[in-house]
Amino acid sequence: MELGKSGIHVFYPQPTGDVCCNTVVFDGREKVIVDPGLYHLWPYLEKSIQEETGIQAKDFSLVIHTHSHPDHMGAGSYLEREYGVPQAMSQEERDYLDGPGQGIYAWFGVDLPSVTVSRVLKEGTLELGDRALEVYLTPGHTPGSVCLHDPQHGTLVTGDLVFSRSFGRVDLAGGDPRLLAESIRRMGALDAQAIVPGHGPSVVGRDQVRNNFKYVYRLLEECGYM
Ligand SMILES: [Zn+2]
Repeated sequence: MELGKSGIHVFYPQPTGDVCCNTVVFDGREKVIVDPGLYHLWPYLEKSIQEETGIQAKDFSLVIHTHSHPDHMGAGSYLEREYGVPQAMSQEERDYLDGPGQGIYAWFGVDLPSVTVSRVLKEGTLELGDRALEVYLTPGHTPGSVCLHDPQHGTLVTGDLVFSRSFGRVDLAGGDPRLLAESIRRMGALDAQAIVPGHGPSVVGRDQVRNNFKYVYRLLEECGYM
């Protein structure tokens, strides 16, 4: 699904029964894929992307990982190996993947991804051809999770930080409820017009986004996270 005429395409997981994430494709002079999902589901996703956008795997100039969990980043290693597509994540997340984050791969029963992080994401502007994304370090679900904001279109890609009427789990290795609540507060202050989370439906419309943040703040309070 394309969000308006923004060149931002959202792909929801295939109904295979696997826990997989939403994938975002930024189409423009540079073609960028965010969270390519589980390794073994890539062929299905590739077909959907090609059908909707005409983009082929070899056309991508960057893979951005909001975080390193296998249901989000697994297929990154395929894109790097087959097409040399560079991979981007925060240094904090790279360190996490080299440490406690590895246990989650064993838990999922999948191999560790062998990717080279050639572009380290930092807070600030990430220039992508005719698009500029603002990168925010938003720890909580994992220590090095990031959110991506496209201010021109008011679209916020949140990974597993915040969802429609819910928020990311903090019970996995590296999770931190206080940091999660703080990061969600920061993202709420951006006053985005759309949220594209890592799982579940998108939230579209400024009022809907505001209401969603209000709802999530209440949930966080009820859980004692803030
Ligand atoms: Zn996750």
